[in-house]
Amino acid sequence: MTPTAELSVTTLKGVGPSLSTTLQKLGIFRLIDLLLHLPIRYQDRTHLVPLRQLQAGQECLVQGQVVDSQVVYGRRRSWVVTLEDGTGYLSLRFFHFSKPQQAGLKTGHYVRCFGEVRFGPKGLEMAHPEYRAFAVPPEEPEGRLTPVYPTTKGLGQGRLRNLTSQLADLSWPDGQSTPFQTLLYLHRPPADASQADIEQAQERVARDELTAYYLIMRHRQSQRAHQRALALPRSQQLGRELLKNLGFELTGAQRRVATEVLLDLEQAMPMLRLLQGDVGSGKTVIAAFAAIRAAEHGAQTALMAPTEILAEQHYFNFSTWLAPLGISVVLLTGAQTLKQRRPKLAALADGEALVAIGTHALFQHDVEFANLALTIVDEQHRFGVHQRMALRAKGRTPHQLVMTATPIPRTLTMALYADMDVSTIDELPAGRQPISTRAVPESRRGEVLERIRGALEGQQQAYWVCTLIEDSEQLNAQSAEATWQTLKVQLPGINIGLLHGRMKSEEKAKVMAAFNNNECQLLVATTVIEVGVDVPNATLMVIENPERLGLAQLHQLRGRIGRGAKASHCLLLYKEGLSEVAKARLKIIRESQDGFYIAEQDLKLRGPGELLGTRQTGETQFRVANLRAHAHLIPDVVRTGDRLLKEAPGQAQALLAAWAPPDTGSIAV
Ligand code: ADP
Ligand code: MG
Repeated sequence: MTPTAELSVTTLKGVGPSLSTTLQKLGIFRLIDLLLHLPIRYQDRTHLVPLRQLQAGQECLVQGQVVDSQVVYGRRRSWVVTLEDGTGYLSLRFFHFSKPQQAGLKTGHYVRCFGEVRFGPKGLEMAHPEYRAFAVPPEEPEGRLTPVYPTTKGLGQGRLRNLTSQLADLSWPDGQSTPFQTLLYLHRPPADASQADIEQAQERVARDELTAYYLIMRHRQSQRAHQRALALPRSQQLGRELLKNLGFELTGAQRRVATEVLLDLEQAMPMLRLLQGDVGSGKTVIAAFAAIRAAEHGAQTALMAPTEILAEQHYFNFSTWLAPLGISVVLLTGAQTLKQRRPKLAALADGEALVAIGTHALFQHDVEFANLALTIVDEQHRFGVHQRMALRAKGRTPHQLVMTATPIPRTLTMALYADMDVSTIDELPAGRQPISTRAVPESRRGEVLERIRGALEGQQQAYWVCTLIEDSEQLNAQSAEATWQTLKVQLPGINIGLLHGRMKSEEKAKVMAAFNNNECQLLVATTVIEVGVDVPNATLMVIENPERLGLAQLHQLRGRIGRGAKASHCLLLYKEGLSEVAKARLKIIRESQDGFYIAEQDLKLRGPGELLGTRQTGETQFRVANLRAHAHLIPDVVRTGDRLLKEAPGQAQALLAAWAPPDTGSIAV
């Protein structure tokens, strides 16, 4: 017999083909999926609030008898029903209403409603509350809190509540591996449950979910051991040639990490290695050594970057480094025309080009590789799982190297990247100047302009970074453009460039080239310069509204300066009236230049959303666990997971079965 948890949701009353399709959009196929679809918050409909005690802004349950009902003609026609409960009065206001609705609320009838209280023209009112009318006084309110669920178009809270209330009546086994009772509790907490009670229950479930995730990662790791990739042993040692031509010595950390990567490539087991290193620590050249190793065997490498600017920068570096070794490199970006793409696609398909560098354009259908042996993903936190998988699918089981400048605290790598090996570059190239960072209030903008003049007179260059809170490149572009106009007026005689994501590729390339050649001294930009811009002569950076960015992002941005031999300065131009947390965060960035330390502090202050790339990609979306609230569970999760694997594989299996969604792809790395 199928265990309850595994039964399809169609076994519930009222779930037909159409509703079941809608539920699937929420990832709900089985009863366990519905059970795991937990409320995002609760409404308290367990007691009636006397009308006299109501306050604006309150969301609550009230009840009264209808004493008046009339349509009023103000700016908008509305229907107003007045209730009275012996303590006071409340108006219900409806802008949309029907005749039958009006007929349903007769004078003297009882109405129970739930909604938000607000100020109306004649005292407190509720607009469009949920309500029910009764001819006689209704029964006591519900004894449990009312769940509010995440939902999707075409699926109301009422329907979802009806479905989850059916769950309580089913017979759930006394789950050792799945806390069924805790889950049921979270769907309908008792009226007297405190916030702390609920959080405690959530934590229990989160612990299970994280453990399941950890087990999946461990499972993948062991699966990888059975897969076969092309072994790439040492052969012509072309890497040595590159070392000679580089123009700098590798740091000790780079040498160590390069060895780790190259040793992995010698194995027939596919590599899956996370290469982390602070901004400017020199990860690119490690990628180049890996690509060279593949090329020595006539095998291909695909390097994927999140932005065109970065892809072009990599293309420039790789061409400079690899062409002298006789390795042909091609660039593929979305901006290229089909005519431009065609010869490159042909070169990749017949194996003549051994390295492909590009943006998302790399994994489109028409891109075929003759012999793809290695995929490299730069700034991995900016890509979603699916993009990475799509690239991987271009080879059979290629080796994979993922690089990130966003340091992930060790506690998180332990569990979330348990399927990967990790290499860390923990040393910056010698001769880097520390960057001094200061916070300057908006009111002292004049001083900032003076600083820019000073730097430019000293033949150095500067960035002015515009940020907006909206995640909209269009608004960002507008704000950058406005700042650019203003600065042109305020700094006459200076050549000021503008760079943002809405510009055409050629325009962007032109501006970057001008800045690279010092034809333009000040570059006004959005955060598009976050990755891939490398101009050692730029020594000053102004960041507007730094409080709007995450610390990791601020740190990345700041990493665009401090690349040459001269001292660099970063000015955080903030608006007065910062919150305490915002102040604390800016203090961290002012006081430290250590990406790992910054990431760890950031995790303490605001959780790892940004670190793990949920910002843009929605990756590692847990159903219940929230890494901000539950990061502290991870060491224990790892211990529990390891113990289950060793001592209770059956239980580990059950946990996996409950949590792994039917489409396991969504938790793939
Ligand atoms: P990131 O780790 O941020 O990707 P990059 O690979 O872009 O860093 O390197 C930053 C800059 O430092 C580049 O100009 C690169 O050529 C240079 N670089 C890399 N390694 C060294 C080194 N060992 N010594 C000096 N400069 C280096
Ligand atoms: Mg880089």
